Amino acid sequence: MRCPFCGMQDTKVLDSRLVSEGAQVRRRRTCSHCQERFTTFEVAELQMPKLIKSDGSREPFDEDKLRSGILKAIEKRPVSSESIETAIARIKEKMQATGERELPSRWTGEAVMEELQRLDQVAYVRFASVYRSFKDISEFRDAIDHLENRRDSGSLSDVKQEGK
Ligand SMILES: [Zn+2]
Repeated sequence: MRCPFCGMQDTKVLDSRLVSEGAQVRRRRTCSHCQERFTTFEVAELQMPKLIKSDGSREPFDEDKLRSGILKAIEKRPVSSESIETAIARIKEKMQATGERELPSRWTGEAVMEELQRLDQVAYVRFASVYRSFKDISEFRDAIDHLENRRDSGSLSDVKQEGK
């Protein structure tokens, strides 16, 4: 594998481990030429279901689009890129696990919300407010109340400030 820093082909694997519940292999590599270190992820390539949009048209699953939606919600939040990649891998696995060739596009929206709820509550509210396009502040409040009932995780004062 070519070194992304100097372009030389001679890189060595320092360490391999399973991540995302065994769905990915993460490898730490080092370049024998410039000694820079980098990480690669290996995943099985499987056919992803197509997405059925609300107007009935079909579009291929677009991982970059999924990632950019998640990154937008997570902007400036303390979430590591590794946990974002794990969330994306999990969403893809769930899509494949349905065994369907086509899925409604809202299916991925709901899957993203599930992941964000786990990762960061502020990001979750951001995404949900765009995705579900809360009609008014009371709907937004309902979502916040829902979060307050989940006292186990996250910082609720942050969520409240977002709502102001
Ligand atoms: Zn190098």
